Amino acid sequence: DHKATIIDGKAIAQTIRNEIAAEVCHLSQKYGKVPGLAVVIVGCRKDSQSYVSMKRKACAEVGIRSFDIDLPEQVSEAELVGKVHELNANPDVHGILVQLPLPKHINEENVLTEISIEKDVDGFHPLNIGKLAMKGREPLFLPCTPKGCIELLSRSGIQIKGKKAVVVGRSNIVGLPVSLLLLKADATVTIVHSHSHDPESVIREADIIIAAAGQAMMIKGSWIKPGAAVIDVGTNAIDDPSKKSGYRLVGDVHFQEACKVAGCITPVPGGVGPMTVAMLLKNTLEGAKRVIEH
Ligand code: NDP
Repeated sequence: DHKATIIDGKAIAQTIRNEIAAEVCHLSQKYGKVPGLAVVIVGCRKDSQSYVSMKRKACAEVGIRSFDIDLPEQVSEAELVGKVHELNANPDVHGILVQLPLPKHINEENVLTEISIEKDVDGFHPLNIGKLAMKGREPLFLPCTPKGCIELLSRSGIQIKGKKAVVVGRSNIVGLPVSLLLLKADATVTIVHSHSHDPESVIREADIIIAAAGQAMMIKGSWIKPGAAVIDVGTNAIDDPSKKSGYRLVGDVHFQEACKVAGCITPVPGGVGPMTVAMLLKNTLEGAKRVIEH
């Protein structure tokens, strides 16, 4: 019976966090400075609050100084932009993250465009995405989840160059940038989205599958080419009466079935999720090094 190798995102993320902690310590000893990350949250959405507290805690663990900016739901777009400008000008802040989604009365694009591209640790500034899309240009930062997917492949010894990669999903935060990264790494890339005809046969061609559709267990075992590498970004809550919470998290891939055919696969949870936070810390460190070591 075939059994896919499980890519342990939690363990890989921990290794990366240890590497970051060591580098932060080195910066602090050599220059007397540590990286700083401003995490801005507007309003009190429960999910956003829990992401933000996770990010702030992760900073503390590796010695990154976190600047906590908590703004009320009613804050105006102008006030938020003013705060961003203030953080742009603060030399102790090397990264600025504005937790999304923002309240309806604030235009996200207007706010994200105001973040200095030198501090755009989420990699969502249109200039950073534009550079990512262009040959011979290097963005200052790569978006965290896509960067985490590539890091999982490379740390698992999976070659990207020359391989057929299929990305399921084309959102600004995952599908599109991960496709661009795979292209930069010399894969032949196909993107499947909600209007794609016969996604199953497209996916079956893939040596590398990146699933980011947000559709619980959409990709069946029979859709996967034997030996393929599967990175499952999807994080979907489904009802599970056997759990105290009443739900559990599953990916976009049918994990049990996929294990019987794939060469390697990330679990959900414990795959891409922990990598996203690790990449945020890594981006902050990289941004700080550009300033501190220049
Ligand atoms: P979006 O909803 O923004 O985008 C989903 C994409 O998938 C769209 O491009 C959509 O196509 C496509 N899609 C939807 N249904 C299908 C289908 N049946 N077949 C093919 N394509 C389909 O989601 P996100 O990109 O923000 O997130 C995707 C998933 O990843 C979610 O489950 C999310 O929770 C998870 N996620 C996990 C993170 C992590 O750290 N682990 C971080 C970010 C997201 P179209 O463009 O045509 O609408």
